[in-house]
Amino acid sequence: MDKCIERVILSHEEIVEKAKKIGEEITREYNGKNPVLIGLLKGCVPFMAELMKHIKCDIEIDFMDVSSYRGTISTGVVTINKDIETSIKNRDVILVEDIIDSGLTIQEVVNILDTRGAASIEIATLLSKPKSRSVYCKEPKWIGLEINPEFVVGFGLDYDERFRNLDYIGILKEELYKK
Ligand code: IMP
Ligand code: MG
Repeated sequence: MDKCIERVILSHEEIVEKAKKIGEEITREYNGKNPVLIGLLKGCVPFMAELMKHIKCDIEIDFMDVSSYRGTISTGVVTINKDIETSIKNRDVILVEDIIDSGLTIQEVVNILDTRGAASIEIATLLSKPKSRSVYCKEPKWIGLEINPEFVVGFGLDYDERFRNLDYIGILKEELYKK
């Protein structure tokens, strides 16, 4: 797998460091509260697992799987493939994502959870591509690293379902997806 990577942008050690910092901030901000971490499958899995180890207040976790469609219509449409089992009415929610690109997916999820009466909704994402936003999107409170609009894989992020198991994040060699 390593030979498919052009350049490493975040080593495993750096990812752990970022997750630790975000986890410590969440611990401070949610002291005495009981937030629900909601991870967006499948990409969130490694980051969520690392992040939650560094959160030292009471939390619950749940997962959601959504597909977004980018059509000619201006508003995004997401289909919920797997919903959360937790009632989030009046709960503090922290959405956990691998990467925010156009902003479409996360914003739709924020809208859905808002409708269900969450007390608060914040976003923690490992990566963000701020230059790629195509819709209004709630600003993530915690971002591991902002990157340019390049295609990256590893630590949950896939290309055609591959590379999720890399323990670092790297830029995929162009010849792999241009052929
Ligand atoms: P958005 O709705 O455009 O923000 O898309 C977010 C989703 O697109 C992420 O959860 C990823 O699944 C996928 N995605 C966006 N950029 C990348 C990338 O560089 N590598 C792998 N997946 C990506
Ligand atoms: Mg994703």
